[in-house]
Amino acid sequence: MSKSNTSPEISVVIPCYNEEACLQTLFNRLIPTMDRLKRSYEVLLVNDGSQDKTTEILDRFYKERPDVMRPVHLMRNFGQHLAILAGFEVSRGQVIVNLDADCQNPPEEIPKLLKYYDQGHDLVSGYREDRNDHPLRKLVSKLSNWARETFMGIHTKDHGCMLMAYDRHVTDQILSCRETSTFITVLAYLFAANPIDIPVAHEAREEGTSKYTPLKLIQYSLDLFTSFSLVPIKLFTFFGFIVSILSACLVAYMAFRRIVYGPEAEGLFTLFAIAFFLISVVITGIGILGEYVGRIYEVVRGRPRYIIREAKETRPLKATPAKKAKAPRKITKKATS
Ligand code: UDP
Ligand code: MG
Repeated sequence: MSKSNTSPEISVVIPCYNEEACLQTLFNRLIPTMDRLKRSYEVLLVNDGSQDKTTEILDRFYKERPDVMRPVHLMRNFGQHLAILAGFEVSRGQVIVNLDADCQNPPEEIPKLLKYYDQGHDLVSGYREDRNDHPLRKLVSKLSNWARETFMGIHTKDHGCMLMAYDRHVTDQILSCRETSTFITVLAYLFAANPIDIPVAHEAREEGTSKYTPLKLIQYSLDLFTSFSLVPIKLFTFFGFIVSILSACLVAYMAFRRIVYGPEAEGLFTLFAIAFFLISVVITGIGILGEYVGRIYEVVRGRPRYIIREAKETRPLKATPAKKAKAPRKITKKATS
């Protein structure tokens, strides 16, 4: 995608889902940070089908700073990553910065990302050195990062950190993928020529609540693994193969005992336990297969991944009209009787 002459240099893309509590703080911190850079920019706040006052607040921001704010309203809730994709699609900058709306990724870190981008890195990826989240979330993240590193061979420090700067060529490649459930931070690594990981600050969420329930987080992790590798299915095949060999040995041993000692009822419950275990393994396997088949189904249906209801264009700031000179106070003569 080529830039038009009027394109700003930097696009900031921020997904927002029911973030009415955080948006004013975000605006107050982000806009001065960006203004200080003295570079042209636009801010795409992507309203991911919020049901609270997010829509009104974003439209108010647009009225305040139409020269830089571009609210994008999606038709309904499509999820964080698809909302970011919608922002990428509408954006025009040569470098696209992404962060969360709740200021857990401090907007003041943006200049640092841009410094590395200017040095020639087409993907600058933040990692949270001192993460301010629940210990359980941190543990799950650690495991997920370890599994991605070990099984997928995609090397980045913290794929859960959304504070990133992408060159336009990377976001164009990401947009060209037709997957419905995707993981942008990891996908970007497949397309970047010169990526770099840099430490960034991380704050606790001060306003509003996390949009991720434990169930959503599990789905998120499944999406990551089924999007980027066949390892779960291969592990399962491998496990099935080993269990088949062991079962064959057990059958041979039981046949031997049947011939030598005759019919025996001992160990019935052990056999039950083994059978239940194997049944549960089979069900898990069907589940893993289902995840992949589900992904194929989503892609084959070919429905739009997100629908943009409205995307505002920037327009020049109106010069503040000179205050009207006060009309001289009319002094009405008191009627004299
Ligand atoms: N978000 C979104 N759509 C969703 C869920 C989340 O646009 O369906 C946005 C949310 O508004 C925030 C970012 O994604 O800007 C990260 O969400 P959150 O802070 O709840 O995630 P956490 O920090 O707990 O991982
Ligand atoms: Mg957050």
